[in-house]
Amino acid sequence: MSCELSETATPEDFARPRWVGQPDVLERAQRLSQKFEEAYGRAPVGVWAAPGRANLMGEYVDFSGGMCLPFAHQYVTLTAAAPREDGVLNAQSMQDADESVADDRPRSTRIDDIEPGVISGWFGYVAGVSWGMNRVARGASAHPVAVPELGLPTSFGADLMVDSTVPIGAGLASSAALECSVALSLFSLNTGNDHPNDALRRALARACMDAENYIVGANTGGLDQTASLRSHAGEILALDCRDFDVVRLPADPALAGLTWLAIDTRAPHKLADGQYSSRRAECEAAAAVLDVPTLRDALPEHPTPDDAAAVLDRFDHLLEVGAELTEDRENTRLRLRHSMTEMVRSVQIADELHSDSPDWAFVGRLLVEGHESMRDDCEVTVPELDAAVDGCLSAGALGAKVVGGGFGGSVIALVSLESVDRLAAAVQLCFAQNGFREPLFLTLQPSEAGRRIL
Ligand code: ADP
Ligand code: MG
Repeated sequence: MSCELSETATPEDFARPRWVGQPDVLERAQRLSQKFEEAYGRAPVGVWAAPGRANLMGEYVDFSGGMCLPFAHQYVTLTAAAPREDGVLNAQSMQDADESVADDRPRSTRIDDIEPGVISGWFGYVAGVSWGMNRVARGASAHPVAVPELGLPTSFGADLMVDSTVPIGAGLASSAALECSVALSLFSLNTGNDHPNDALRRALARACMDAENYIVGANTGGLDQTASLRSHAGEILALDCRDFDVVRLPADPALAGLTWLAIDTRAPHKLADGQYSSRRAECEAAAAVLDVPTLRDALPEHPTPDDAAAVLDRFDHLLEVGAELTEDRENTRLRLRHSMTEMVRSVQIADELHSDSPDWAFVGRLLVEGHESMRDDCEVTVPELDAAVDGCLSAGALGAKVVGGGFGGSVIALVSLESVDRLAAAVQLCFAQNGFREPLFLTLQPSEAGRRIL
């Protein structure tokens, strides 16, 4: 497989790339209101939206306490909602017939009956949020304090109708967008507060994370939900996953004539089952060898590439002198190398973005290193992802990398505004030459967090 552009390629050789249009959020919200009324026979009280995210660096390190660099993008999931007084939660989705969503299980439950293992399919993301909110309210989650404001009284229930403009299952966090829009709607219906502050948003992000971890059963680490609920327009979040503190980095590539291009490879999610959990288990096994609570604790406060190399040397030494390892040795070392270098790259990019005029070429090179690490050390890429990165780089992108968990999903690339069309065409051609499914293209802008729309 190669995505080198042939020197003789002319624009006529390129099939027309398929772009995902900019979402008209207000129009979608109005349409959703109508759908709600048709389904439930009454008007919704409001419509709430929450975005998906991209991530510049920090893949597979959130559960290890590393730093991630996400931004919320402009594609949102919308939830129209109205309260009930019988403790019942009902939900419908306009994406129900979508192949990535479809299932025929009931989408109604008493909130009191929700517990791990009883709800399957996409309704788990929705029901899980109400369960997670009660958990955070009574201090039963990993959130540092109990947040009673999130608690739903026994009689509280709601009718919900969902519509998404985020590509689903594309690594752009449609699941977090769904959870977070539901969380904002339930919180608002119950408390009347349409403007939760950052502390409440942090608690709601934890409730959504618990929904995904315990009710859906996906072992994810909080990056997506934090980005969806706590981002600001025009900024990238430097998210410290030890304590979920954020530093906001104003970083607008448009000032340098650049933009973020996302390519949804639409590669089928083969092999993905259990892979996220096994990577996490290997990272935890490496932390046990190093005798640290999480891998982040193996590095100093402001880690450098030398620090990352020193941790690997220490790991090798500890195994030589007989430290016990519960996972495969070679795989664990690769995951450790990914985690260490990825954490350092996040810090390097964050440092660069603190400057008034960031060196975007340097950032681009780190993105490529991040992709190579996801491919060779984390081993979560597929040919479509590698081809999209190769295609972008051969057509002049400053950098490109897989975003999210891999095994399909999307690539983001840092590209000059004037080269976007040419770049998309080059990737399109490359996919056609390799016999892959036709990719989808989106430009992403760092956008505001979840909010009430209507
Ligand atoms: P990603 O978050 O990268 O899009 P995930 O596999 O984490 O991919 O989440 C995708 C799943 O989230 C879908 O299979 C479905 O269960 C659920 N989901 C997301 N958006 C919707 C929606 N609008 N309606 C119903 N389910 C949704
Ligand atoms: Mg997801």
